[in-house]
This record gives sequence, structure tokens and C-alpha cells, in this order.
Amino acid sequence: MPSFVINEKCDGCKGGDKTACMYVCPNDLMVLNVETMKAYNQEPDACWECYSCVKICPSQGVEVRAYSDFVPMGGSIIPLRGTEDIMWTIKFRNGTLKRFKFPIRTTAEGSIDAKNDVAGDGLDNENLYSEKGKTLPTP
Ligand code: SF4
Ligand code: SF4
Repeated sequence: MPSFVINEKCDGCKGGDKTACMYVCPNDLMVLNVETMKAYNQEPDACWECYSCVKICPSQGVEVRAYSDFVPMGGSIIPLRGTEDIMWTIKFRNGTLKRFKFPIRTTAEGSIDAKNDVAGDGLDNENLYSEKGKTLPTP
């Protein structure tokens, strides 16, 4: 089931230019109603349930109802994102709670300079990052 916003929890990212869920959605589905300052999924049919908006929302204001093989009985999944890890709370309909904590990064937050660290030999070069410095054979 596609993502949906819990209005009571959404604060419109405190009126920033672009909300976190709008920024992260790979399909540009999340929009902010500037009158109510609540976000919503403008095209649920196009949502592929990637959970990006669920994970990034600072207010835990977005939910995706999972399929029954993953979370049976209509439970919900609530992530709590920290700087080092993410805690997933699985809430079953009968009240049972399960929590799982996973590390989310191996480098210090803010330490990656994507353009210089990850771009290999430069963005104009066809080499992959792992091919840094390698000369590719000419066809
Ligand atoms: Fe609301 Fe969360 Fe989206 Fe911010 S990221 S606008 S708080 S749903
Ligand atoms: Fe977009 Fe993924 Fe959220 Fe669906 S679950 S609205 S595709 S970020």
C-alpha cells in the first residue's frame, strides 16, 4: 500500500522551501499543501513503496502499510532515524511490538565529498569508481 501522511504528525517541515519527503521521493510524488502545511502523496498509484519518505520524515509522519507476508495482520512499520543507525519498530495489530536496529553508515556524517570522493576520475570519465586511474581500451 502506498505511503500516506499522518496529518497530526506532519508539520510541513516547519515551512522550509522544500520538505524532506518532497526532496527524497524518487518519483516526485510528495507535495505540500501550503495552506494546511501538510504534505500528501499526490499520486498513490505511482508509489513503489520504497520507504524513502518514511525514513527521512523528521516527525515520523509518513507510513506505508506493508504487505501481509512482511508484516502480517495489518501492522505498521515506523522507522526512527539516528545519525548512526535506524531503529525499525514493527507494530502488529494485536499490539505486539518488535524492534530492529541497523547501522546506516560507516563514515562520519557530513564527511563525504561526493564529487571528489566518489566520482572516480571525474564525472566526465566513463570509468567506475573502482576503476579510478585505469585507462580503458579504445574500441
Ligand atoms: Fe510532513 Fe514529514 Fe513530509 Fe516534513 S517530511 S512535510 S514533516 S510528512
Ligand atoms: Fe515516493 Fe517512495 Fe515515498 Fe512512495 S514510498 S511516496 S515512491 S519516497
